[in-house]
Formats: sequence, structure tokens, C-alpha cells
Amino acid sequence: MSELRWNPLLCEWVATATQRQERTFLPPADYCPLCPTVPGGFPTEIPEPTYDIAVLENRFPTLLAEPPAPAVESSDLYPVRPSRGVCEVVLYAPRHASSLAQEPVEQIYKLVQVWTDRFRELGALEFVEYVFIFENKGEAIGVTLHHPHGQIYAYPFVPPRIERELECCLGHLERTARCLICDILGEERRDGRRIVAENGSFAAFIPFFARWPYEVHIVASRHLQALTDLTAAEQRDLASILKSLLVAYDRLFDKSFPYMMVMHQRPTRPGSYEHYHFHIEFYPPLRRADRLKYLAGSETGAGLFINDTLPEERAAELRERISPAVWVSRSVP
Ligand SMILES: [Zn+2]
Ligand SMILES: [Zn+2]
Ligand SMILES: [Zn+2]
Repeated sequence: MSELRWNPLLCEWVATATQRQERTFLPPADYCPLCPTVPGGFPTEIPEPTYDIAVLENRFPTLLAEPPAPAVESSDLYPVRPSRGVCEVVLYAPRHASSLAQEPVEQIYKLVQVWTDRFRELGALEFVEYVFIFENKGEAIGVTLHHPHGQIYAYPFVPPRIERELECCLGHLERTARCLICDILGEERRDGRRIVAENGSFAAFIPFFARWPYEVHIVASRHLQALTDLTAAEQRDLASILKSLLVAYDRLFDKSFPYMMVMHQRPTRPGSYEHYHFHIEFYPPLRRADRLKYLAGSETGAGLFINDTLPEERAAELRERISPAVWVSRSVP
């Protein structure tokens, strides 16, 4: 049973997805459904003895290309629509005990290419208006499978968080004739204290307005709107800066660092999005090695985030732990 229910109080959709209750919860390593199937062993979702990067349909999807009819009726106050869309799982590597941080930069580069292909392909579906690429990492975020993987949701509407960024970018453009995210990047570079890493095509920084202690934004230096706008050199630079940041995250507390990673690209529904600017945001839930930041009353009930650390100090901690990504092979296809 799944459907989209309209919340008139916030003017946004809520998805019901009761089938997700049944999903696999933290299976032991030898019963991982995302590992290759070993001959004579437990049959996983991948019947092959190995793979490199794999994209699967989510077995417990929130959105479906052929969704069931909603279980409840629409009314004027409470519109309901089928939960049409696509949910995919992206397996980063066949290595169960790995993580994106531990994978070689060449593998991350291949992943950037896979993300780009999925953005293009899902974005071309007539019922898809927005392709959202993300990763939930770590049990602190509620991950139910440890195998290194991310997800893609192709939504039948532009989600509210993106609509809000689009509106703010458009407002800034109308006031100043400039791109808001280019201006944010310029300000962070001028100040310098919150910059975590930089290369030819991307900068990583904890923004002035960070909500989370270790929130990092990776922003393209060139004004562009989506993965599909990147040159091959920019794809490599994206892999390099991701590798450097993820390794620095793991070095912070000497453990695999939990985070939400979300990619903010232009919508794929027709329209002009020249005022928008591609970036990736990381929201790690830790404020110290053994302390989680919770979204409590003020954050959840009022929308005011309270960050009890200074972005300038947290950025310095991360910056000290940055080292450049080492490419063994430049000739990855
Ligand atoms: Zn596995
Ligand atoms: Zn820009
Ligand atoms: Zn954003």
C-alpha cells in the first residue's frame, strides 16, 4: 500500500509506504542481499559471482513506475495521488566491508559516471520531475544494510527543499543579477576560514549558515546545473574532492563516519533553471565522537536549527585531516 497524501498545512506531499515495514533489517554479513551470490551460497539480489557498480530497483520502494491505486479517496481538502516514481539502489562496490571513503578514487570516478547516467535516464521519464541522488550512511542515520550503497529517488514533483532553494536563487538573481550559489562560493573563498578542500573544479566548505556541526557543501566552481553538465576533467575532480572529504570525515573520530549525502541538481521537468547551481550537501549527525545531534523541538517543530558549534572551528578540524586523493590509474574509462 502506498500513495501520496497532500498536507494542506505545509502545502507538501507525504508518502505512505507501508510495505517498507517488511524490509530487511541489519542482516548478518553472510546473508547480505547486496553481496554477489557465491556459488552454492545464499542467493542474493545479484545472481552474479561479482560486479563492479550495480544499480537495482529498490525492493521496498516508496515510489513505483506502476503504482497501485491509492487506498483512500481524494477530497478537496485532502488530495491523494498514486505514488508514481522510481526508487533505485546503487551498489558502490562488491566489497561488503568497504565504504565510499575506503574505495579508491578511480571507483568513485566510475560512480560519478553511473550517477550521471541515472540522472539522464530517469530524468527523461515523462512522469519524473526531479531526480534525487543520496546516501544514508551508518546506523545513526537508520541504515538497515551495511553494504556500501546509495539510493536514487525519481519524484513526480519537485520536492519542497529544492523548490525553496530555487525560489531563493531566483530572488537573488532578480535583486542582484547574479547567481546566489556563485556568490556563496565567492564569499566562502574570500573569507577562507570555512574552506575544507579545493581543487580545479570544486570547493568543499562548511557554510557560514551550517545547521549541522560537520555539514559540508561541495560546490562546482563553474556555474552549472547538473552532473550532466560536467566535463570529464570535472567528473575526475568531483571524485577527488569526494575521496578527500570522506577520508577526512573518517579520520575525525577514527571511525567510519555517519552522514546523509544529498545531491542538489536542477529539476528534470521542462523549464529554465539557469539560476540554479549544482552542489552536494553532507549532513553528519555527530557533534562529537560519541554524541549525536538530534532534531528536537526547535528544529522539527519550528524549523529553527540550533548549531552549538562554530563552523569556522569545525572546518579547521576537517581541513587538518584533508589529504589529496591519489590516482593510481588516470586511464579509467
Ligand atoms: Zn554485502
Ligand atoms: Zn552559479
Ligand atoms: Zn542545496
